[in-house]
Amino acid sequence: MADGDSRERDRIADPWGRRTPYGARQAWPVRVDQQLGGDRDGDAVEAERWVPSACVLCSNGCGLDIGVAGGRIVGVRGRAGDRVNHGRLGPKGLYGWQANGAPDRLLRPLVRDGGELVETGWDQAMDRIVERSRALLEAKGGGAFGFYTSGQLLSEEYYTLAVIGKGGLGTPHMDGNTRLCTATAAQALKESFGCDGQPASYTDVDAADTLFLVGHNVAATQTVLWSRMLDRRRGPDPPALVVVDPRATPPAREADLHLAVRGGTNLALLNALQHELFAAGRVDRDWVAAHALGIEELERTVADWPPERAAEVCGVPAAQIREAARVLGEAERLLSTVLQGVYQSNQATAAACQVNNLHLLRGMLGRPGAGVLQMNGQPTAQNTRETGADGDLSGMRNWNNPSHVRELAELWNVEEMAIPHWAPPTHAMQIWRYAEQGSIELLWISATNPAVSLPDLARVREILAREELFVVVQDIFLSETAELADVVLPAATWGEKTGTFTNVDRTVHLSERAVEPPGEARPDLEIFLDYARRMDFRDRAGRPLLPLIDAKRGEVFAARYDAGDPPLHRWGPAALAPEELLARAREIEKTPLAAGDWSLESRSYLEKAGIEVPPRESGLHAVSALQICRLGMAADPVPPERVNPVYVRVPDAEISRNA
Ligand code: SF4
Repeated sequence: MADGDSRERDRIADPWGRRTPYGARQAWPVRVDQQLGGDRDGDAVEAERWVPSACVLCSNGCGLDIGVAGGRIVGVRGRAGDRVNHGRLGPKGLYGWQANGAPDRLLRPLVRDGGELVETGWDQAMDRIVERSRALLEAKGGGAFGFYTSGQLLSEEYYTLAVIGKGGLGTPHMDGNTRLCTATAAQALKESFGCDGQPASYTDVDAADTLFLVGHNVAATQTVLWSRMLDRRRGPDPPALVVVDPRATPPAREADLHLAVRGGTNLALLNALQHELFAAGRVDRDWVAAHALGIEELERTVADWPPERAAEVCGVPAAQIREAARVLGEAERLLSTVLQGVYQSNQATAAACQVNNLHLLRGMLGRPGAGVLQMNGQPTAQNTRETGADGDLSGMRNWNNPSHVRELAELWNVEEMAIPHWAPPTHAMQIWRYAEQGSIELLWISATNPAVSLPDLARVREILAREELFVVVQDIFLSETAELADVVLPAATWGEKTGTFTNVDRTVHLSERAVEPPGEARPDLEIFLDYARRMDFRDRAGRPLLPLIDAKRGEVFAARYDAGDPPLHRWGPAALAPEELLARAREIEKTPLAAGDWSLESRSYLEKAGIEVPPRESGLHAVSALQICRLGMAADPVPPERVNPVYVRVPDAEISRNA
C-alpha cells in the first residue's frame, strides 16, 4: 500500500501527497503514509511487527514505525501521533529503507595484507588498530590521531567518540562532514544567540502569519515540512509566503513574493530589508532593548543599504524589496527558514546572521509562530555538534570558555589540560592537511566517504593512500574511501541498532533496533566502546573512562519529549541492559513529573531561570544538552511552568560521571 489516502498516488511523482488544509493555531490533520513491499506500487507484504523509529534522511526527522517480517525490514509507516509529521512520510522516508537490504553490504572486517584488503575477524582487526594506536600515543601523543566523522551516526555513538577523542586520546583533530554542509547554521546560531540550538519549532508553522524562506527549497529538501506549509496555505487564514531564491523552485512559484536574487548576493538584500524596517519604524525597540545588544552598529551598517543600492547588487527591483520589507515588517508571527542557498553562498554566516537579526529587530522569537530555523542536512547532523564529535566540546560546551572545560573535566573526571582547548579545534580541511603533512598518522573515518565527497578529490585520495598514514574506515559499504583503508570495520545502520537523534526543531526520537545487522556488522557504538575497552582509557581515579564499556549493556539512552509548545526535550544515559532501558524509557513516558529529579548539567541554567534546584548531594543527574540549549538561549528567565522538567534518574554513581 502506498500513501494513506490513495493507492494510486505515485509518491515519487507527487512527493507531497494529498492536501489536508488547516487554519491558524489548529492542529495539523493526521495523514498516515505507509509503504510495504519492495517496489513503489507495493506488494502484498504484511508486517509481523512494527518497531518505533524515525526517518534520518533529512533534518525534518519524521516519526515512523519500521515494519518487520521474517527478520527483514519490509516497510515503514508514518506515526500518526508524532509531533513532527502527524503520520506523513516523503519519498525518501517511504523508500529509503530498501538500502538496508543492499546485496553489497560489508559483512566482515577487512585488513590490508600485502597491499590487498582481506577478510579477518573482529579481534584481529581491532588488535591491529589498538597496536598502532598505543605505539602512536606513546611516541607522539594524542595529536597524532584524527577523526573525521559524519552527520549519520546516533547521539550515543557521537558522544562516545567525543569521549574517546577528547577525554581519552586528547586530540583536537575531530570534525565531521557536517563542517562542509551546514556548519554555517551552527556558527550563525552561536553568533546571534550564544548557543547552537534552534529558537523555533515545526509547530510554529501552525501559528505563523508569515513564512520567509531564505535559500531554502523546502519542497525538495524537506517534503513533509513543505506539506505542512502547503496545508496552511490552502486552509483559512493562510500565511503570507516570501521566498528568496535565484531559481523558480516550487516554493518560489507558490510565493506571494519571490525575490530572485543573483547568486551570492543574499547579504545585500537582507541589509536592504533591514534598512527599510528601520526607515519605516518597524523595529520593536523596547523588545530589542530588553533582549539584544548592538542595534546601533547594525543600524549604521544597514543605513548604507537603501533598496536602490541593494537592487544593483542583487538584481531584485527596489520596489520588490520595499514590498517584502512591508510584508515582513507587518508580520505579527514570522517564521523564517534558512538552508544551502545561504550556507553554500557568498558571505554565508553573515547572511544567516542577518536573518536572525531580522527576527531580533522585530521581536519575533520565543512565542508561537515566531522564530527562525537554520536547517541541517539530517536529524543526526545536529548530534555531531551537540555531543562534541566535531570541534565543540560535549553538551554544546565551548572550548574557549574555561568554566565549560572545567565542568567537562569534572564530569569525565580527567585533568582539564587533558581536554584539548589550548587552540581552536582543527577543522575538517585542516585535519586532511595535517594527514598530508604527516603530523596526523592515524585517521579514523566513520560513516562518510571523503574520497568522493570532499573538494580536491585527487589530493584527498593521495592522502588516503599515503604509506605513512594508518587509515581506519567504519562503514556499511566498501566505499571508495574504504578501498584505500588499512582496516575496514563493517557497521550496522539505521534499523539495526538502537539510539537517539535530534532533528532541527529539537525533537529527540528514540530509534529502536528492528532487525539484526547483516553478517558480523556491529553498531558503531559497540565498535567505539570495544576500542575504548581495548585501549583501557581511565579517568583520574583509575576507573574506566567509559563505564558503558560492554556494548551489550547501556546501548541505548532513554529519550522522550513532552508536549509543550514548543516542546522541551531531554535525554540521559543509564547503565541497564537494552531491554531494561527500553522498558524504562517507556515507563518515563508515562511517569508524571517527579519534583526531585534534576539535571546536574542544567543546574546553572535552571538557577538562572529562577527555578528551585535540589542540592547537588541529592545525587540526581541526567544529561540534558537540549534543555541547556533551550534555557541558555532564552534572554528572559524561563517561567517555571514552561520548563516542566522530567529527568532520568541515573542509577549508578559511576555512570553519572559521564552523564
Ligand atoms: S521529510 Fe525528511 S525525515 Fe520526513 S520522510 Fe522525508 S526524508 Fe524522511
